[in-house]
Amino acid sequence: MASNKKDRRFECTGCGDCCTGNPKYYWVETTRLEQQRIAQYLDISLKWFRRRYAVREGDAEGISMRGGRCAFLDGNRCRIYSVRPTQCRTYPLWPALLSSDAAWKAEARRCEGIGRGAIIPLRRIKELLK
Ligand code: SF4
Ligand code: SF4
Repeated sequence: MASNKKDRRFECTGCGDCCTGNPKYYWVETTRLEQQRIAQYLDISLKWFRRRYAVREGDAEGISMRGGRCAFLDGNRCRIYSVRPTQCRTYPLWPALLSSDAAWKAEARRCEGIGRGAIIPLRRIKELLK
């Protein structure tokens, strides 16, 4: 574990890059409850949501990012912003990225908001690392 967790800074610029994915990633992980919320927000059935937007691997499910873009990205705007999955709400403050300087710096190559803005309070980081 890095000793300088206090030094993590982040402020989203709204560039949209995290929604365009990385060839390694082809989905945004979602729970069934999140899928229900999104389907409700879009006024479509869960069945249709799953047929049109979901991808599966074993027991896990997610929103497709086939072609390197999230299915809900419209220009650089999220069409489901108010009901976006936890994975999107919390990026890049993920335990795996906060847990070491190397991981945080490596992610900064994908997210221009890393290193900007105010220092993230240690209390918040500890909560996320639980
Ligand atoms: S890549 Fe980073 S700065 Fe850009 S929209 Fe995503 S979180 Fe915000
Ligand atoms: S659901 Fe919205 S915030 Fe999440 S990856 Fe897709 S477009 Fe981006």
